[in-house]
Amino acid sequence: MSIAELYQKFKASNGISTDTRKIDNGVMFFALKGDKFNANSFAHEALSKGAKYVVIDESKYATDDRCILVGDVLYTLQKLANYHRQQLNIPFVGMTGSNGKTTSKELVAAVLSKKFKTYYTKGNLNNHIGVPLTLLGIDESYEIAVIEMGANHQGEIRDLCTICEPTHGFITNVGKAHLEGFGGVEGVKKGKGELYDFLEKSGGTVFVNAKSLALVEMAAQRKFKFQFDYLAADKEPRMLQDSPVVVFTANSKEYTTHLPGSYNFENIAAALAIGQHFGVPVELANEAVSEYNPDNNRSQIVEKGTNSILLDAYNANPSSMSASIQNFINLKTDKKKVVILGDMFELGDEAPEEHRIIGELIAKGNFDLVVLFGQLMSSALVSLPNAFYFSDKFSLHNWLIDKQLQDSYILIKGSRGVSLETVLPFL
Ligand code: ATP
Ligand code: MG
Repeated sequence: MSIAELYQKFKASNGISTDTRKIDNGVMFFALKGDKFNANSFAHEALSKGAKYVVIDESKYATDDRCILVGDVLYTLQKLANYHRQQLNIPFVGMTGSNGKTTSKELVAAVLSKKFKTYYTKGNLNNHIGVPLTLLGIDESYEIAVIEMGANHQGEIRDLCTICEPTHGFITNVGKAHLEGFGGVEGVKKGKGELYDFLEKSGGTVFVNAKSLALVEMAAQRKFKFQFDYLAADKEPRMLQDSPVVVFTANSKEYTTHLPGSYNFENIAAALAIGQHFGVPVELANEAVSEYNPDNNRSQIVEKGTNSILLDAYNANPSSMSASIQNFINLKTDKKKVVILGDMFELGDEAPEEHRIIGELIAKGNFDLVVLFGQLMSSALVSLPNAFYFSDKFSLHNWLIDKQLQDSYILIKGSRGVSLETVLPFL
């Protein structure tokens, strides 16, 4: 079946599903394969739960003409998403970067929503499956789309751009994340730069953080139809210090956000710049930023009894870890400062050295209490003779129960794989 024919069937369906636990009546079900499952075997179940069509790539699961047999289900999903994307004549803002993609995406979407009907990536659906699913969720009523694109190796952003065909692009930053898959920081630049490559070739627009030498350099190596540099000193909203959340003044008015961490300032500046480019009234853009509330343990401030907790346990890599610790060092508070930090994954051979460097930074913080968790974090101990170290969660939790922290400001951060938010009930 051609993609055009499949597209007709998609238009006659009630959206897409890839999960038999979430089947709405009339959907088109794509039977994807993962490491541990083959959804071809769920095709029958999908039909019995109300799917209108199932797209499969193993003929033995074809039961009737509602089953559409293709060569490869994932490839077909991506092709269909791209076909759909090409029917939509609206700006597509593609976003990638080492850190802050989701936060920036949410902020940009909040700002653009003040003027346009805006579609944007739900949660963190930013990979080779998430991006197509995101695209297929956009209907003709939308006026603009904001698409998060994630990657942990070369070629991934190139492929996502081929599917999504962004008209505008924004790289949040290039730092030490997924070093193992990218092959070092130069590899990260090349991998994330694939978004710039696409926009250079297609004659698109890029938004470049003028304060990031790496991004300015990457942009300068290419020619864009339109390049919007922001965060240059004269355009910068002023940021107030001495606050756990970002407070900024713009047009002599003060806006308090729900975003802790000075690193969020860059995310905010990007959202305001992109809003400005698309003609969102400045006042409304500022309001959108100050109203936005992060979720998912992504830099939240949680008050518990006499403790304030800076919960940043969503993920961690050397760049975001040092940004977070540095921000915590700068934070002014009368409370005791405590850090509970866990392993940073996906660093390959660099892991011991990167954890050792983090240990040095922690040592500069003069924190009242340093608690480290995980195998890799043991490399940080050389600079931290007074740290409390745990290699298993059970001991960490028990120790926290005994310790009964009070009047403390506590930073919690680690990779997704260590799920450090599990300490919350014990604080
Ligand atoms: P993922 O790769 O999981 O999709 P992401 O790039 O979408 O991550 P966010 O989820 O927005 O990033 O933020 C994750 C964490 O990264 C935050 O909790 C914060 O610690 C850190 N972070 C956010 N923005 C920045 C930034 N501009 N610079 C450095 N670190 C940041
Ligand atoms: Mg994300």
